[in-house]
Amino acid sequence: MQKKKYERPSIKKIESDMPNKFGMRSEYQPMTHIDGVAVKDIIKNYGSPVFVISEKTIRKTFKDAMRAFTTRYPKVQYAWSYKTNYLSAVCNVFHQEGSWAEVVSRFEYDKAIGNGVPANKIIFNGPDKTRKDLEKAIKNQSLIHIDHLDEYYTILEIAEMTNIRPQVAIRVNMDTGIYPMWDRFGFNYENGQAWDALNKIMMSKKMDLVGLHCHIGTYMMTAEPYGVAAAKLADLAVGLQQKYNHYIKYIDMGGGFASKNTLKGAFLPGSDTNPSFDDYAEKITSAIINSNISPEHIPFLFLESGRAMIDDAGYLIGTVIANKRSSTGKRTTILNIGVNILFTSFWYQHKITPAQEFTHHTENTMIYGPLCMNIDVIRENVELPLLNAGDNVVIHQVGAYNMTQWMQFITLRPYVVMVSEKAEISVIRKGETMSSISDYEVIPQHLKDFKL
Ligand SMILES: *Cc1c(COP(=O)(O)O)cnc(C)c1O
Repeated sequence: MQKKKYERPSIKKIESDMPNKFGMRSEYQPMTHIDGVAVKDIIKNYGSPVFVISEKTIRKTFKDAMRAFTTRYPKVQYAWSYKTNYLSAVCNVFHQEGSWAEVVSRFEYDKAIGNGVPANKIIFNGPDKTRKDLEKAIKNQSLIHIDHLDEYYTILEIAEMTNIRPQVAIRVNMDTGIYPMWDRFGFNYENGQAWDALNKIMMSKKMDLVGLHCHIGTYMMTAEPYGVAAAKLADLAVGLQQKYNHYIKYIDMGGGFASKNTLKGAFLPGSDTNPSFDDYAEKITSAIINSNISPEHIPFLFLESGRAMIDDAGYLIGTVIANKRSSTGKRTTILNIGVNILFTSFWYQHKITPAQEFTHHTENTMIYGPLCMNIDVIRENVELPLLNAGDNVVIHQVGAYNMTQWMQFITLRPYVVMVSEKAEISVIRKGETMSSISDYEVIPQHLKDFKL
């Protein structure tokens, strides 16, 4: 039998913090492997820190979400929200599962085309579409979700000039009982803007009104607002049916489903409190099937859920740089993972698990990143086993928004690797090097030389 590791005794100060229902403690087992691949091997080959994406988890989450909707509604189409994670390997897993693409900029639009998504299966959202972007999207017959009237007028001009019928929907904002209301995007339902825009489109006779869209918020912690939103979009569809005998092809409910992550200050973990795909699906689909939309013309239900589809599939592995005591005596641990690559630590209490065996003594710890900046805090209070310099940790549920909102600040951005369903590792984004930065810089001739 191996001799147990010596661990020094320590005196514990009780922090006045909210315990969850299991007490403060959450980690009982080390995470030595991700989908069958040893964490230590990943670090050996790709360095630390390193992001790891589980292909198996993406596919499973996608299938769970689809099952919730397709068992309740006959026609469902999913579109992957590129801004949530547009690493091409990640997008392509969703495309292999049957997802279309949902994009909010020309950059994302071109990325989807580059990934091989047929242009008529790209949904183009957002307030910033230039005339050139619109010309391209119209020529390609992509689905354009109009955000404001200036965009509508440009589309109308292009339609008249080219004699091509743009495929359009409008984005609708509305009161769903969640405040502050997201009323900056699209046309308002309650004050009649949305109905006015629909009438303008129908009267123009120059474009095909194919859908109605909303995206009511993000990390929505109750499902009810989706029922309200779906009922309001269905009401607009019924209006078009009655006034023009026009049937839209789809109702797009956007994204915003909460992932299982836990918000800062939450009493219970997100996995216990947040609605499931079934909860969201029940509200949305019953609002549509119970509306007066003609059953022979029941529209497709489009979904653009981002964070709830990918958060669980992402891990960030890092290394302990040092431990110290703060001025109050609290244990602090410095990791080589900072807020520059873990943007979501500003609002989530990310779960952190040691990657090697540990004893069951824990201490309330503050986790800092490596940046020379006071706000570089990964966790303010986390009950963790004692970690030593050089030990590894795994941070969970980092798949959404980190690999698109990360910044190159103080350190270079690390490798991102994917574990396949056969437990094979592939690099899906190389770690940055000095030339990733210096290739874009230019030093004017007169600043090239100096003597010190
Ligand atoms: C960001 C965004 C999404 C995805 O949002 P999540 O909160 O990540 O689900 C979907 N649709 C639109 C229009 C968006 O802007």
